[in-house]
Amino acid sequence: MLEMIPLPYNLDALEPFYNRQTLDIHYHILYKGYVDNTNKTEEKLAKARLENNFENIKCLERDLSFYGSGAILHQLFFENMGFPTPSMPDNHLMEQITKDFGSFNRFQSQFTEAAKAVEASGWCLLVWVPTFQKLEILQCEKHQNLTLWGCIPLLVLDMWEHSYFLQYQANRADYITAFKNIINWKVVNKRFEKIS
Ligand code: MN
Repeated sequence: MLEMIPLPYNLDALEPFYNRQTLDIHYHILYKGYVDNTNKTEEKLAKARLENNFENIKCLERDLSFYGSGAILHQLFFENMGFPTPSMPDNHLMEQITKDFGSFNRFQSQFTEAAKAVEASGWCLLVWVPTFQKLEILQCEKHQNLTLWGCIPLLVLDMWEHSYFLQYQANRADYITAFKNIINWKVVNKRFEKIS
């Protein structure tokens, strides 16, 4: 079961930059809702697997992404605030920021502009992309995009039409069945071995 992280500071610790009332509601009501609903969704998924009834799978996967990503991003957000704090990246991170953004100032400019330009509800993130071996700044609309932030892909199936339409036309189920015969579990095993 997913647990709420304890708030790593007092409710008034971020005053005047982030006031007590805002933090109180944000942590105790909104963040709690994401964590509680992630757990409820996991329970519903367990029930669906047990009963082999996947009638609501689309809705459940959406809920998992929405509530789960909300829980993860809020945890990161609350944890990456504090006051007073040592307010600069250490040498190691600063080196990487300088390498990838040109300078700390340029990083800050891009982060500010990217955050301002987030459409409606969303987030702005500084992320490390292992495949690129590079820091990037990302906007995130809403917060789910049907993913869970920080997850590491182990097995991937391309469900874009280009990947099956020529051979299977609209028979997506046949394509998925066929795929199960050609999964290289040795590679999946290795990916899992690396991170577990
Ligand atoms: Mn929030």
